[in-house]
Amino acid sequence: CHTSMNQSHTPKVEEEKNMPVNELDRKVDSVLNIMTLKEKIGQMNQYSGFRDFTGPVSKTSDAASKTQDIRDGLVGSMLNVRGVENVRAVQKIAVEETRLGIPLIFGFDVIHGYQTMAPIPLAEAASWDLEAIQNSSRLAAKEAAAAGLNWTFAPMVDISRDARWGRVMEGAGEDPYLGSRIATARVNGFQGNDLSDRFTIAACAKHFAAYGFSEAGREYNTVDIGNSTLYNVVLPPFKAAVDAGARTFMSSFNDLNGIPASANEFLFRDILKNQWGFEGFVVSDWASIKEMINHHYAPDDEAAARLSVNAGIDMDMESYVYMNHLEQLVEEGKVPVTIIDDAVKRILKVKFELGLFDDPYKYCDEVIEKQVINSEEMKAGALDMALKSIVLLKNENEMLPLKRGRKIAVLGDLAMDKNSVLGNWRIGAIENTAISLKEGFANYTENEVVFERGPVFVDQKAEFTQELVYNKTDTTGTAAALKAAENADAVIVMLGEHGLQSGEARSRTDLGLPGLQQEFLEQIHAVNPNIVLVLTNGRPLALPWPKKNIPAIVEAWQLGSQSGHAIAQVLHGDYNPSGKLPMTFPVDVGQVPIYYNHKNTGRPDGYNEGTVFYSHYQDAPNEPLWPFGFGLSYTTFEYDNVQVDHNYSQNQKVVVTARISNTGDLAGTEIVQLYIQDEFATTIRPVKELKGFEKVTLQPGESRQVSFELTSDQLGFFNNQGDWILENGAFKVWIGGSSQATLEARFTLEQ
Ligand code: BGC
Repeated sequence: CHTSMNQSHTPKVEEEKNMPVNELDRKVDSVLNIMTLKEKIGQMNQYSGFRDFTGPVSKTSDAASKTQDIRDGLVGSMLNVRGVENVRAVQKIAVEETRLGIPLIFGFDVIHGYQTMAPIPLAEAASWDLEAIQNSSRLAAKEAAAAGLNWTFAPMVDISRDARWGRVMEGAGEDPYLGSRIATARVNGFQGNDLSDRFTIAACAKHFAAYGFSEAGREYNTVDIGNSTLYNVVLPPFKAAVDAGARTFMSSFNDLNGIPASANEFLFRDILKNQWGFEGFVVSDWASIKEMINHHYAPDDEAAARLSVNAGIDMDMESYVYMNHLEQLVEEGKVPVTIIDDAVKRILKVKFELGLFDDPYKYCDEVIEKQVINSEEMKAGALDMALKSIVLLKNENEMLPLKRGRKIAVLGDLAMDKNSVLGNWRIGAIENTAISLKEGFANYTENEVVFERGPVFVDQKAEFTQELVYNKTDTTGTAAALKAAENADAVIVMLGEHGLQSGEARSRTDLGLPGLQQEFLEQIHAVNPNIVLVLTNGRPLALPWPKKNIPAIVEAWQLGSQSGHAIAQVLHGDYNPSGKLPMTFPVDVGQVPIYYNHKNTGRPDGYNEGTVFYSHYQDAPNEPLWPFGFGLSYTTFEYDNVQVDHNYSQNQKVVVTARISNTGDLAGTEIVQLYIQDEFATTIRPVKELKGFEKVTLQPGESRQVSFELTSDQLGFFNNQGDWILENGAFKVWIGGSSQATLEARFTLEQ
């Protein structure tokens, strides 16, 4: 049954073009030309390091044998080595003890900060603030570079519509347009204008491809999507990352239509390298090459190595199969040496670009490390990003901003938690803690305030690798919390998810409040309904009861190191929230996947009136709890005067304008959004697609005209063959403050 695997197959690698060789290529070739096959393969091997390479851990046999392999020139890159001292120690072996002295490149999961944690990426996406996001990535790169690192496994640009999947916290949400813009911002932030700068690092767009569509939201699961979704939804943010100059890509764990990503020639050779002209290198995900045996795709290690390298995976992360099998595969003619050369050139090129050949210890300076890590600059950046990431979901009865001179009760185990609000992926920040809501509030408020933990949420001792244990029985703390609530004018309660409840391998089937939290919230409500619910979570949650019963709800995600400060400022009205949801919140987990840019069915709402024969559920609405793009402000905005000015055939663009006015009493910032619908097309287009947005700040009473240009880049789409096409016909366009914007206009496209 493995016949196709056993056929020898030579993929298409772009033949060396007859192009003038530039300076960089010449340098790369000068190294490649003196390398043995074994040394070349060494460059394609990446090991995970040890937390303390110079300390006792390095004496373990694993570390000792890895050290020897580095010495033997069998390693091109390390991941998970932390800190200047360790990086220098490992680099020294590569530079001083190997035959050629080729420096290692040091990778690390700098997903939302290294030591100073910014908000989780999904939260940052809620800011819709590309400048702020780029700055946040720039700061993350700076701190990581100060710690000796030069390569981050970020940005994660996987689009996902499934809140059950724990890794939605790492991405930019459900929309390919917003996701593409954010992918560009993040790549630019990490890499800067010049990769040889002291404080920029190489970015890695991951996970190629379609990992966010893991079936049923179950981690590492199979992916089976059609071409329309692949080309129009999944691939665009990756293309944006290539266009922004991302130097590396990572393959995903899943298979796509039966072919594991790590052996997917269509993805890596045809699309990424040939069609998109990507010149960087591709790293596999952790052991994903070897795991193709578990997929029942590759019968053994040797086949796994052959299939991956031929498909265009240039570096093997922790599978060991390249180092163990590639040499023989080349000698037997099963892997052309041109493929090895191509991979090694790509890797060397990035090392040259980073300046590692000029100075392998370029990133290793303890003084800079001390100066930069956890510096005031980092803290200020994390706070700025946290403020911009908060989304106001509900605000009735004038609950917010909090009025002065009142008695406030701040409740909830998560309100005291200095760890959960960092979110997942903070391996650089192991010893770090965040400003909890309790601390942020205590430092900030002039109100009389009491703090009560309420029931314990989870066993806080849970390890990174273990399942969380929720408290479902012990109500110690509830009585004291209820007493505090009863005596207060307003109650602030922080509920949601533990910091390790989202992230890799953290899928859920229940999107409610875990543990005793829902019960606790209802108990508080019974004694004092004047509640501000502050949510902390790494994914959309299904919270119909809180939405109906709690007057004010603030989405505070996992905001990182400065969490408590940011929330306190927003609650007190010293910062007017402007975030908008980058992912739909469902009423019930049974609606998932639920997303705004779905296609029309043949039986929409209202069809077959008076009968059940239309697209719906018996027991839940089709509508979400909160739609994509939604978020309130302490002021109000109104939209009117939409106009379309176009003669597409003449100008190659359509201009849409509308007026936005601040109709409330406070200055505020609104994310103005533009959506289109291609009404009829040769493949069904979504009911609505985001194609533009702009952040606008207005004083009370102020109005502004906003204007968007729609060119073929926004008006076309990919057909099922992957060709970009632009079709004549009618379009609808909406401008407003969410994906449910109602201010509508129409135009016709004629070429
Ligand atoms: C994750 C990647 C990550 C890698 C290295 C894998 O388990 O899927 O996103 O970059 O580990 O830590």
